[in-house]
Amino acid sequence: MITRYGASRDELQNLLLNEPRYRVDQVWKGLYTELNAPEDMTALPKALRAQLVDILPNSLTLVEEVISDDDTTIKFLWQLDGGSRIETVLMIYPDRATVCVSTQAGCAMACGFCATGQAGFTRHLTTGEIVEQVVRASQRAKAMDRRVSNVVYMGMGEPLANEEPVWESIVRLHEDVGLSARHLTVSTVGIIPGINRLASRPLPVNLAVSLHAANDNLRDALVPINRRYPIKALMEACNGFLESKNRRLTFEWALIDGVNDRPSDAIELAQICRSFRVPAHVNLIPLNPTPGYEVRGSSRNQVQAFCDQLVGMGANATIRRNRGTDIAAACGQLAAGQPVQISRSK
Ligand code: SAH
Repeated sequence: MITRYGASRDELQNLLLNEPRYRVDQVWKGLYTELNAPEDMTALPKALRAQLVDILPNSLTLVEEVISDDDTTIKFLWQLDGGSRIETVLMIYPDRATVCVSTQAGCAMACGFCATGQAGFTRHLTTGEIVEQVVRASQRAKAMDRRVSNVVYMGMGEPLANEEPVWESIVRLHEDVGLSARHLTVSTVGIIPGINRLASRPLPVNLAVSLHAANDNLRDALVPINRRYPIKALMEACNGFLESKNRRLTFEWALIDGVNDRPSDAIELAQICRSFRVPAHVNLIPLNPTPGYEVRGSSRNQVQAFCDQLVGMGANATIRRNRGTDIAAACGQLAAGQPVQISRSK
């Protein structure tokens, strides 16, 4: 099925065969530069606008919009074709506006501390479904007189397990929506072949790796894919990415009380960070609560102490402000209202 943000330019051209040629440009510009729905494309004749509404349907149906943090964090719950649900988060900061997009309905990576992992995998998203999340969030931002500047692939799903649609969406956001590749960040649990391919693709996007543990024993337990792609090999892939892209490498580290917030964890992590020519940056965040994981996040003091210890050892670390915890829009809390299994043993 052809959808509004799934249609390629050629497909659009085919849909508009009976129209003057310049219509394709007008519609494309309307969709991507002006972020307009067809009914609002005033440059087009009325009949064509109405026709476009039918032949270019949206692929996301808004189920619910939830707002928090003084109207600066907005979570969208969407229903997809086929009935599955996903979430998108818009975060407004004084100097930028960031959209956090989902790449899959659910996730197969099974990280026990993540609500999406607890819910399991449903299906991959298409390019159009990913791009439309950004466009719809941008339309919302526009209504607040703000422009989306950054996109992070940190919503539901594993981007590098859905590589082609994710890459095509990056190209679309860069070429047609006009976002700088430097303001696009792909976050991965650490899928090495995907990181290698990302390194060889043309656009210089940022890479974030959800590390959470700096030794294989602990990481095997927290992030199961580590058994296939262990830390040493993962760091080699990260290094390859840095060498070819000259972009920022960030490690995500959700601090879990008594699990990965000990002085020994900081020592191991600092060592890894310093092993790169340009030291990796660590984003620290206290683990957000999810229904299926009992251990809680580290206390505020512990997070600060861990950060200080890292910085003291020459690592580059910051504590990330936690947005949207009260509306379950924060990191690891996106589950799109799916029932979350409490016991994961089978
Ligand atoms: N699958 C990709 C994209 C998701 S990004 C990835 O793993 O990178 C979502 C981020 O939130 C990841 O860094 C993930 O490890 C982190 N996260 C998951 N559960 C969390 C939780 N309960 N609290 C804080 N961060 C969490």
